Amino acid sequence: MIRSKSFMNPARYFATPTVLVFATSVSLAQPDPNWLDHDRLRPLPTVISPAVPSTQDQAGKAPSDATVLFDGKDISQWVAMDGSPTKWIMKDGYMECVKGSGYVRTLQNFGDCQLHVEWATPTPPHGEGQGRGNSGVFFGLDRYEVQVLDSFENKTYADGSAASIYGQYPPLVNASLPPGKWQVYDIIYTAPRFDESDELKSPARLTVFHNGVLVQNNVQLTGPTSWLERAPYRAHPEKQPISLQDHGNPVRFRNIWVRELGRPGKKEFTLPNSLLANYVGSYQRGGPSELIDVTVEDGQLVAMMGETRFALFAESPTKFFAKTTDFQIEFPANASGKPDQLTWSVGEGANTAKRVSDSKTR
Ligand code: MG
Repeated sequence: MIRSKSFMNPARYFATPTVLVFATSVSLAQPDPNWLDHDRLRPLPTVISPAVPSTQDQAGKAPSDATVLFDGKDISQWVAMDGSPTKWIMKDGYMECVKGSGYVRTLQNFGDCQLHVEWATPTPPHGEGQGRGNSGVFFGLDRYEVQVLDSFENKTYADGSAASIYGQYPPLVNASLPPGKWQVYDIIYTAPRFDESDELKSPARLTVFHNGVLVQNNVQLTGPTSWLERAPYRAHPEKQPISLQDHGNPVRFRNIWVRELGRPGKKEFTLPNSLLANYVGSYQRGGPSELIDVTVEDGQLVAMMGETRFALFAESPTKFFAKTTDFQIEFPANASGKPDQLTWSVGEGANTAKRVSDSKTR
């Protein structure tokens, strides 16, 4: 690129629209102008109990406002990628990857969040390079990986080391403990944002502490994790499950908790496709042509009411909501197989619609 005169003149350079776009794409916190400095009317921060740190012998405790994803006794928040029960094993307070069983993911979806996860690679170590103690912590379902690897005296490429953003950013230092030791990741994830036409508005960002040491400082991801190539962003919902990788090595995990950041909202879940398939059909809400058509698109329930399309988000296995309008639908809680009706509402009230067809009518 030829360096123009305007580039050499700082005053003009900083006035260019390009620079303004860049400045707004980096969302840095600003003091809220709605409050005076030291305003006595300003609500005080919520009081919580902080986390109890782990030791090598004893897993610690989550802070009181965290969602506990794995406490060593209950693996029910983790499922296979299709939503079926996972084949990873749970034992002595940890869960362990079983080769060939696939990734595990959370049932619940998370956007911007703080994640705490502890992991240990096999001892004695087996294999070398990328083949030794490989797993990964993924955000955005399976898109953005913080690498898990036995990087203790195990040479591999820098951007594939433990605590790397795989293929993009090596960690600032190698803070690895020997194999078999419990290691800690504390991760801040900022989900990428996309506009209505699925264009990237702001990239995913990650901050990572490895065993208490800052190793990724708010880095901007170039796109989803990929091998051999730089993959571009493709639009996806802001909240997605968190997943752990099956890379064929029996890596263990314990004491996993998450705190949602940003705007408070309803909890969201990614339900098994087999369950969503039961809900597909046409439901009559009035006269013969007054229908709610329910379909599944890309693992998401979609309702058509007249010409209006609602992408629906699950807040429970039976209850769904839209984000564009206060439209909600709910299926009977104890229906086995295909429900014969649904309840729907827009803003107020509740109405019933009876199933008239197992598939959508158009
Ligand atoms: Mg990995």
